Amino acid sequence: MGINNQNITITKSTTTKIKEVDFSNLSFGEIFTDHMFECDYVDGKWTNAQIRPYGPISLDPSAKVFHYGQAIFEGMKAYKSLDNVVWLFRPEENINRLNKSAERLAIPEFPKDLFFDGMETLLNIDKEWIQTSEGSSMYIRPFVIATEPGVSASPAKKYKLMIILSPAQSYYSGEVKVLFADKYSRSANGGVGFAKCAGNYAGQFYPTKLANQAGYQQVVWTDASTHENLEEAGTMNVFFRINDTLITAPTSDRILDGITRKSVIAIAEKEGINVEVRNVSVYEIEEAAKNGSLKEMFGAGTAAVINPIVSFHFKGNDYDLPKLENSFAALFKKKITDIQRGKAEDTFGWRYQVRTL
Ligand SMILES: *Cc1c(COP(=O)(O)O)cnc(C)c1O
Repeated sequence: MGINNQNITITKSTTTKIKEVDFSNLSFGEIFTDHMFECDYVDGKWTNAQIRPYGPISLDPSAKVFHYGQAIFEGMKAYKSLDNVVWLFRPEENINRLNKSAERLAIPEFPKDLFFDGMETLLNIDKEWIQTSEGSSMYIRPFVIATEPGVSASPAKKYKLMIILSPAQSYYSGEVKVLFADKYSRSANGGVGFAKCAGNYAGQFYPTKLANQAGYQQVVWTDASTHENLEEAGTMNVFFRINDTLITAPTSDRILDGITRKSVIAIAEKEGINVEVRNVSVYEIEEAAKNGSLKEMFGAGTAAVINPIVSFHFKGNDYDLPKLENSFAALFKKKITDIQRGKAEDTFGWRYQVRTL
């Protein structure tokens, strides 16, 4: 079955930037491919779907996105196998989540079929940009912004969905030391923490900057009311290993329902690892660090897949985590990336083969 893209106007770039790109030396999210997908919401429907050369867009200075932050996004990856086939990992989850975020921000939902048709056409057009080498992938960034001019504080009637592509290498962030939040919060009950909305990031930049200045790369957010339960890292969900049990917080309206998180839980269950999805108290983790039963902490998210944490700071004290030979973090990273790259059997049915034009 081919891609249904008769409704998508395609204007190809007459030049390519690909020769200027050093694929062995990419910083995350700084280089974009030759084309982008774009679709507008006007008069109550999504229309004017097009793929055109990557470049600046023009918006009225009063466009509502600039004033009231109606902006949501997704993050996913495509991989190319040696036989030139392009694969996605659980892409339905991303469009479903985009639409969940949309609902919460009073943004109209985007049709699932058009999302797939647009994204897959774009991936075909910029296929040369997807590298096959170990660790290489194409980071896909779909997003929606309110474009309607006017500074009245109400949901816009016009929006733009775009999909842009950025070639990525395997992500190594260096040693990650984290700080457990005891003052600032990223989300609250009934709020937008579960949505992938731009403002959730803006709100954590300042406390994260303070943490960086104190020598910590990331903040692990706690619940806003008591700061006693560990929730997530703001771009990644967080897992704890106490002895041989894997523990993570349940998702809620304060926590983003990560696809990597879900995948880790499914793999752990299949591997016979004891998984507990429950509240994780800062005191429990502190105590486990003191008595040596805390073996690992790691983040889980699309960009890095699994990001091991080497130490945490809580109320004036730093606690180091042991360096393990056979870590859960390494196991999950291998299991997930092997499925993504087609090196292991996909018993979960997570891979999606991108259709060709
Ligand atoms: C995107 C994101 C994650 C990770 O989700 P994945 O689907 O695994 O990429 C975790 N937390 C927040 C706040 C996020 O925005």
